Amino acid sequence: MTSAADESNPRNPAQIKAVCLDIDDTLIDSQSAARSSLRELLGTDRAWPVWQRTTDRYYGRFVSGQLPFDVMCVERTRAFFAAFGEHIDHAEAQRRENQRMAAMQRAWGLFDDVAHSLDWMRATGLRLAVVTNAPGDYQRKKLAAVGLADAFDTVVISGETGVAKPDPRIFHTACQRLGLQPHEVAHVGDRLTTDAQGATRAGLLGIWLNRDQIPAPRAFAEDVVPTITGLGELPELLVTEIAAPHLADLVGHAP
Ligand SMILES: [Mg+2]
Repeated sequence: MTSAADESNPRNPAQIKAVCLDIDDTLIDSQSAARSSLRELLGTDRAWPVWQRTTDRYYGRFVSGQLPFDVMCVERTRAFFAAFGEHIDHAEAQRRENQRMAAMQRAWGLFDDVAHSLDWMRATGLRLAVVTNAPGDYQRKKLAAVGLADAFDTVVISGETGVAKPDPRIFHTACQRLGLQPHEVAHVGDRLTTDAQGATRAGLLGIWLNRDQIPAPRAFAEDVVPTITGLGELPELLVTEIAAPHLADLVGHAP
């Protein structure tokens, strides 16, 4: 797993000038919001594992372009209830999905380590971007809801660009908008393949944010993708990577 990415990646230390971040489960605790929305809809979250499995299946169909986002949401809800033997029609699935979505939007919130990390990166002179897989208006609404509408130099969303992570083109779009080469940009995200390895293959410094400290796949042991368990670890990781001569003074201000 090391060879292709390494040989095609000309990155050297002290070249990083910008950091891209994923939104869901990187900046925003989307999983907790989704879980609480399910609890509000059903009165319990015992079915959470079934919801997660159903989401993985249906979200993949959205990301690959097989289903529009709104259709995916309703079809996912129908499939979820069907898994428990309850077969509901489209209108009823839409009603339940609306209820769940409203509950989820009330629950959107940032992880505790986001504000300090963004402040620290800004203080070092790093430019900041978002690279995310979802519909544009949905993600922009999400960023606004948590006070990050104006926090980034550019926001790159698969629903607007027409390509989704891990396709290298979405990472290259971010680099172009930042006016930087891929080897000058890092990308941080919670999905190993979609975010970290996708970014690495696109020539960026891909960083895996493994908040839940899930075991890495066996093949990953040989990989060169740096891993952190919280955004608070970014300063220590990036200190040798950032192209900022005054950086040593700023490490003391790390969160
Ligand atoms: Mg994510």
